[in-house]
Amino acid sequence: MDTLIKLNNVYRNYLENQHSGVSGISLEIKRGEIVSIVGESGSGKSTLLKLIYGILVPEIGEVLYENKRIQGPGEKLIPGHDDMRMVTQEVTLNLYARVFDNISGQLSNTDLQTKNDLTVKTMKFLRIDHLANKKIVDLSGGEQQRVAIARAIITEPTVLLLDEPFSMIDTILKKQLRDDIERLSKELNITVIMVSHDPSDALSLADKLVIIREGKVVRQGHPKEIYKNPESAYVAKLLGAANILNGEGSEQYAVYPQDVIIGDSENVMEAKLKSIHFNGSYNELTLSLDGKQIVAYDFSFLDIDPLSELKIKFRNKKALSS
Ligand code: ADP
Ligand code: MG
Repeated sequence: MDTLIKLNNVYRNYLENQHSGVSGISLEIKRGEIVSIVGESGSGKSTLLKLIYGILVPEIGEVLYENKRIQGPGEKLIPGHDDMRMVTQEVTLNLYARVFDNISGQLSNTDLQTKNDLTVKTMKFLRIDHLANKKIVDLSGGEQQRVAIARAIITEPTVLLLDEPFSMIDTILKKQLRDDIERLSKELNITVIMVSHDPSDALSLADKLVIIREGKVVRQGHPKEIYKNPESAYVAKLLGAANILNGEGSEQYAVYPQDVIIGDSENVMEAKLKSIHFNGSYNELTLSLDGKQIVAYDFSFLDIDPLSELKIKFRNKKALSS
């Protein structure tokens, strides 16, 4: 796979002398990849996406697409790179027009048959053809999301930028959307760059995970590698809601909630149960260990006496370096 997009030491801050955007990001994105940008709220994810799209201009550094500098909004009649489409959280659909017209409106009228066929094909691809005659106002958030994506891909972009695509939709639709994004990438060969503050969707989908904090890339690589080896407390908490614990001296390590083992007999520590919440496939336990709060996921639904001391043990401790 060849490099499609390249950022060289890009800065773009909204306020002077303090982090408020992107502060020195270098990044390479390959053609056909699904890249997921993850970071806490305010870390600069949307700013990064806008810099790639070309609706924000770097103060320092450069953003290249196929080795050419991306033009800013002042240099183009229509802002945004011609080969890219961006879907944001803001609704940009025409609320009182039909789904069909919202999507087909992206195409010119020179060939009406093609316009019609392509619209039908795109709606089918995103499984919204049954909604063709509905108005946008009458759709759910998840359905609107699919229309917005259909509208973006009907012009056959090389790159699709998605800002928090999973934020407005429920679990069942999340699965469908994840599947759609995968098919977009594999069948239509679209490079997908998406942003999320909740990595659970990104972990299963992304070829590459880029973790940002305060406008900087703190980690990038394959999701499984980063999850298995988080290296910093920020990453461990972000990806797996990890417990951060003190080891010898100043050392710290992370333990994911599913790695807190309850009721083992050897090398155990005593903890107190603070609360227990049923979560469908597991119980979420909050425990107190030497005054420190620990979260544990119990997938075997152990019969726990709320008043007794619990014996716990950690497995898969992850050493942290920051
Ligand atoms: P994210 O998408 O990760 O939540 P953003 O890229 O939207 O973060 O914003 C990064 C930082 O820049 C935040 O602290 C935000 O408050 C600030 N910011 C974003 N847009 C503006 C703006 N137009 N003016 C001033 N500050 C902004
Ligand atoms: Mg954002």
